[in-house]
Amino acid sequence: MKKILHIVGNRPQFIKLAVLYKEMSTSNEFSQAIIHTGQHFSYEMNELFFKELDIPEPVINFNLQHVSANQFIGIAADALQEYFLKEEHAIAFVYGDTNTTLAAAIAAKRVNIPLVHFEGGVRTGDNSMPEEINRLLTDRLADINYCCTQQNLDNLLAEGYGTAIKAVPLLTGDLMLDAFMQVEPGIIQHPLPGAYVLCTIHRAANLQHKQHLRNIIDGLNELHKSIPVAMPVHPHTQKKVQEYGLDIHFTGLPPVGYREMKKLLQDCSYVITDSGGTSREAYFMKKKSLIIMDKPFWPEIIEAGCALQTDTGNIVKNSALLDSLQPDFDGKIFGSGNAAKNILQHLHSFFATKTQRH
Ligand code: UDP
Repeated sequence: MKKILHIVGNRPQFIKLAVLYKEMSTSNEFSQAIIHTGQHFSYEMNELFFKELDIPEPVINFNLQHVSANQFIGIAADALQEYFLKEEHAIAFVYGDTNTTLAAAIAAKRVNIPLVHFEGGVRTGDNSMPEEINRLLTDRLADINYCCTQQNLDNLLAEGYGTAIKAVPLLTGDLMLDAFMQVEPGIIQHPLPGAYVLCTIHRAANLQHKQHLRNIIDGLNELHKSIPVAMPVHPHTQKKVQEYGLDIHFTGLPPVGYREMKKLLQDCSYVITDSGGTSREAYFMKKKSLIIMDKPFWPEIIEAGCALQTDTGNIVKNSALLDSLQPDFDGKIFGSGNAAKNILQHLHSFFATKTQRH
């Protein structure tokens, strides 16, 4: 029996893993195990998700914390390589564009086991973003790249995937949408006023320069004077706000669980975010969003008139422009919520063909 090793390390990966793991448990052809690198480790960013999404315990957690990004990739790749060597018939399954994703991709290819990547083909063209480097390299190393959107698939096809590059690209839809459709919203722990803006910020590009984060916090403080702003604060953001000595005048919350986040999304007026996951969920929830990224990961949402892109200095001005959008939320950009089924079906046929050939 082939064994799918899911390698995860952070919050959005736990969410995608939850739905795929559940779907794969129906298979007689694959066993599965979860390997955790330890990238996210606090209760709110880690355990809470395993608990509320019913994800089984990882077989191993490398607990890699407090190292630089490049050290993380190196140490995680070493540890994963050693682990992979002990497993027979293993297939490495990686998610997204994090350092965990890249480390596992390198390790899998060093020991020559199949590598499957979910969220292939995302391209911003901006190689200064760590996520872009991680995804370019992981896509290139993977044997299969599952794509969330047609545009992601087209990006891979244009780069020669499936022809000059042997790796298989396939459109499956988004596991985030599967999760969104399957998991019920929870209870809001810290009651908020009737109308509010939901905000999340954590991208390195917005945190690493003091002026960028200052612009964001100033903009949100200003916006809060006309409509309440609520932000579950990511630990990295919390650290930087303290380090830069910035003052938050809006409602800062601790990071919340997935269900509570869904309820916050359901009840908010609109969303301001720099998160790949939350910008998709705003679209799933049919809420307009303002995306604080120079090169948004999912331009499809903007093209559909459902979101606007902003720089850090113009949050208030661009929030006001959201009113004039004519959004089309019905385009099924991210599929229909059956990505996990599509992935499992393809894995069955892919590995059945491989076994016959050998
Ligand atoms: N999320 C959550 N609680 C929070 C903030 C975000 O459950 O306090 C969820 C959000 O709904 C989405 C995912 O975390 O499903 C997004 O993760 P994150 O923003 O950390 O990473 P990204 O998607 O930008 O890689």
